[in-house]
Amino acid sequence: MKELVNRLARDHSLDANEYHKLIQDCDESTFDYLRKKAVAISVQRFGTGIYVRGLIEISSFCRNNCRYCGLRCENRTAERYRLSDDEILSCCDIGYDAGLRTFVLQGGEDVAFTDERLVSLVCRIKERYSDVAITLSLGERSMVSYKQLYAAGASRYLLRHEAASQELYSYLHPDNMSLQNRLSCIENLKAIGYQVGMGMMIGVPGQTVDHLVEDLLLMKEYNPHMIGIGPFIPHRETSFASASPGDLRQTLILLSIVRLMFPDALVPATTALSTLDAEGRKQGVLSGANVVMPNLSPADVRDKYSIYNNKLSIGAASVECMNLLEQELNSIGYQIDYSRGDYKTYGNE
Ligand code: SAM
Ligand code: SF4
Repeated sequence: MKELVNRLARDHSLDANEYHKLIQDCDESTFDYLRKKAVAISVQRFGTGIYVRGLIEISSFCRNNCRYCGLRCENRTAERYRLSDDEILSCCDIGYDAGLRTFVLQGGEDVAFTDERLVSLVCRIKERYSDVAITLSLGERSMVSYKQLYAAGASRYLLRHEAASQELYSYLHPDNMSLQNRLSCIENLKAIGYQVGMGMMIGVPGQTVDHLVEDLLLMKEYNPHMIGIGPFIPHRETSFASASPGDLRQTLILLSIVRLMFPDALVPATTALSTLDAEGRKQGVLSGANVVMPNLSPADVRDKYSIYNNKLSIGAASVECMNLLEQELNSIGYQIDYSRGDYKTYGNE
């Protein structure tokens, strides 16, 4: 097994059977070795600085009906909100003062956020803070829309592919959503020049190790700049309400594999990981993650952006407590890196 890890660290790739074996048969000593290798390559590239991105959850309205998500349109009990442009700008003011230089605007697919409105919003943020990076995570939009937003100043886009398997994708989504469209959005974003994020949940109902292997192979093909991997956590108002959450250990294994596959990628220790386990953020960093995304949304809407049960938005997961985050990172030998943290390639090691 160690030989497999060494080869992954050296070549940044394995074949499907080998990935399967690494995930399926990862005993304790392999787990430790895999994580140590992932941390070593991460520290070699990025040092012990962890990039911070301020997460602004701009809307809980969504026209889609993904089976796993609490914001799905058929969840009639969800409390919906939509931030005004001025509220979003106020969040940016708070984030900028706290030292953040990347803002992530995330939300459901809210039809009220037209191209015109978003373009104006992105322009206003860039006018106020020309040195920040704007990341969007607003789902599937047209090529024209993505182009306009890029021209306005957004330079990064997070669009997890969710499931590389056609069969699993269809199980998780209604018929009007397709893997094909998801992937063509990702291709469009790349072609325009965005830094693009892909990824998937770990432990979502129906997912097998074979599916995870398909995810890894798909990402190898697309070579994303950012990779978001976090555990699935059930939401009480979805058909997966009684499903078990994803497994911490398996999430960490996947994080480490991804770090070894993509040494230069920006990989967050996700909020879902911290929600699943109090040590999740630290364990994510100690598995090769190099980004955290403190919540910058107005306090009174945070509970309404309820993707899954008990989503964490306080303490070191929030922008008000950056000192706690710093302390937490210091305790494992890391510190916050306040720079923009754009993707770059470091060349061959
Ligand atoms: N609507 C946009 C989209 O779907 O790309 C962005 C917002 S969506 C809430 C962001 C991510 O949340 C999704 O890509 C999905 O992987 C994740 N997510 C949704 N439901 C989840 C759940 N129950 N547990 C963990 N993550 C979840
Ligand atoms: Fe909407 Fe995104 Fe949730 Fe799907 S995952 S229901 S697109 S917010």
